[in-house]
Amino acid sequence: MVQLICNRGVCMNSIYSYTKDELVEYFNNIGEKKFKADIVYDWLYKKRVNSFDLMTNLNKNVISNLKKDMIINGIEIVKTDKGTDVEKYLFKLSDDERIEAVVMYHDYGTSLCISTEVGCNMGCAFCESGRLKKRRNLNADEMVLQVLEIEKDIKQRISHIVLMGIGEPFDNYDNVLKFIKIVNDNKGIDIGARHITVSTCGIIPKIKEFTNEKLQVNLAISLHAPNNELRSKLMPINKVYPLKDLMEVLKEYIKVTNRRLTFEYIMLDNINDSEECAKELCELLRGINCYVNLIPYNETNNIGFKRSKSVKIDKFYDILKKNSIAVTVRREFGGLVSAACGQLRSHE
Ligand code: SAH
Repeated sequence: MVQLICNRGVCMNSIYSYTKDELVEYFNNIGEKKFKADIVYDWLYKKRVNSFDLMTNLNKNVISNLKKDMIINGIEIVKTDKGTDVEKYLFKLSDDERIEAVVMYHDYGTSLCISTEVGCNMGCAFCESGRLKKRRNLNADEMVLQVLEIEKDIKQRISHIVLMGIGEPFDNYDNVLKFIKIVNDNKGIDIGARHITVSTCGIIPKIKEFTNEKLQVNLAISLHAPNNELRSKLMPINKVYPLKDLMEVLKEYIKVTNRRLTFEYIMLDNINDSEECAKELCELLRGINCYVNLIPYNETNNIGFKRSKSVKIDKFYDILKKNSIAVTVRREFGGLVSAACGQLRSHE
């Protein structure tokens, strides 16, 4: 099902919400050959035109059908903030809602952190993005357009996408999956599955579904605590999907997909950064094909948590290393322009 975009009472499908298969189906339904879907993808994503009239190798009949059934829409960049190696974008959507996305320049390429929802309902205690409750899902086109508008603005291609902006991707599963299929299509934006990372706080039924998609996309789990008691305090979702059950489905994910999991672990001063926590984490992850990304907490004005002292982060890191757990400390991006993890927002 393709979703409608409504603006001032007029509702249309965004062409950017169509996966290639859906576009093929569309052309089938209007009695046209399916290769036209490839042609349209080429115009939209390789040549980047924003008008059906410019698709000169399609006949008039096809163009008038497309115009009748779909629109080529956009989302508006209302503000950008530049830092070193990082740039944050504030977008206005067609219904005036706002979201943010962040570009990061690495030595291995340019990655884009995109939002998946307006606000977020997960209520993690430490996260700025979740202070605004979810107002709505983003449609697939609104995720695709974050990529297109930013590539146009920076005049270069994005090589990696992380779904780690505002929102919980698995709370908007269908649109997120469509988005992945659209940006991954080799006739379109063509970002390799292994260059796409979805991050979730642990919505078990959707992790199971995701497992069965058998995609080569990377999965990251926001863990942040090595036991139920602490995790439930930090992340209310843990009361619904407790750690033990989560670990079960993750083991199944690894077994079925044969892929390595990433665990994100924010370092919060005196909350989850003790040696005991590190040891408990080693126990929890023993024998699991994964690596742990320790994230120095980015403080925000509105939330009381503090960042762990660097000696504590070092100690924590060492304990994991000694226990043969692959671990990195996340390079910091965007702190000064509030573009860092957990600092993105849909609100003033
Ligand atoms: N909802 C998804 C996607 C958001 S990803 C998820 O939970 O995975 C954003 C990542 O940044 C998550 O791991 C989140 O827990 C983390 N994060 C949130 N607030 C943060 C902060 N202030 N500093 C550092 N990381 C933070």
